[in-house]
Amino acid sequence: MPTSSLSIPEIRRKVERSERISPEDALILWREASDAEMRELASLVRARFHDPASCSYLLMRIINTTNVCVAQCDYCAFYKLPGQAGGYVLSQDQVFAKLDELVALGGELAGFNGGFNPQLSIDHYCDLVRAIRSRYGDRIELYAFTIAEFLYLADHASLSYAEAAERLKQAGVRWITGGGSEILTEDFRRRHSKFKYTVEQFFAAQSAIVAAGLRTTATMVIGFDETIEERIEHLDRTRQFQDETGAQESFLCWNFKPYFTPLGEQLGNIEITPAEYLRHLALSRIFLDNIPRIRTSVLTQNERALEGLLYGADDFDLPIEDEVTQKAGATINLNFDKVLNVARSLGFEPMRRHVALDRLAEKSL
Ligand code: SF4
Repeated sequence: MPTSSLSIPEIRRKVERSERISPEDALILWREASDAEMRELASLVRARFHDPASCSYLLMRIINTTNVCVAQCDYCAFYKLPGQAGGYVLSQDQVFAKLDELVALGGELAGFNGGFNPQLSIDHYCDLVRAIRSRYGDRIELYAFTIAEFLYLADHASLSYAEAAERLKQAGVRWITGGGSEILTEDFRRRHSKFKYTVEQFFAAQSAIVAAGLRTTATMVIGFDETIEERIEHLDRTRQFQDETGAQESFLCWNFKPYFTPLGEQLGNIEITPAEYLRHLALSRIFLDNIPRIRTSVLTQNERALEGLLYGADDFDLPIEDEVTQKAGATINLNFDKVLNVARSLGFEPMRRHVALDRLAEKSL
């Protein structure tokens, strides 16, 4: 990537004038701007979309429907190959039990996330979603499947992306989120997840999802061995897709948890620092001028994630479970008040966000 000919003061003036920064400008910002400058510019852009004194959050759980997977990503500590001991598929009753527990805790958003399991057809998942809609109605919303799983389900059923999206929609799916994106460069995917679809396939699937009238989000994971240029390429592809569709409801970035993964072992089980995570959030807010909601990850940064509110984020998750990241070292704090009070101590009043109702609650928990 060529470097920008602009200086930090010139890039700053662009941001202040609401002009879009280029990938080359982003590289200069990353390399040369101070943390204080990143924070200030990100807060400036955040204030164009949100009240500077408030933030929002989701109370949710990820339900890992199966850990059997043929993708073999080297950054994953979660999967078992077909036939390997320890593989599981959750029954409908087990999914219901997890949803009941979520409801009892006051939540109503569940994200489904599971492996590429050759034993499970798209009809299996359609039946599951129908059963959930029948039992819970609109009391629960589902981030039902990631784009990566969607791609596998469509391929496995020999359906076009459009046909698969329509099939899932008819079963009651409303959201297919941008999960499984990690780093959207072809080279990164060749290095670490060569069976997990190309960047072109990812965006072709997301286009079909949007065309079918389903809702979607953007995500990213940092802290593998990706270069800063790869991070910026990911942000650029995300911004381009948003220019074309306006459909990505939010952008969530979390960081790689390396423990018990082949890649983590190879890289010495080193996580990026919270400071690097926050700096990347700031860069994302400044660069993604067309995505109003930028989310910070309590799941992988714990309470430090709340500092992301000072670096351009406006929304965060209060998760009660995600086996994929927990298996790789993530820890979950169920003391929600404690987490929310961190946001308050930083000057942000947290408002609970209801995806099912598509609105903010009157007050936080
Ligand atoms: S990250 Fe997902 S797709 Fe990759 S091996 Fe793990 S479960 Fe499978």
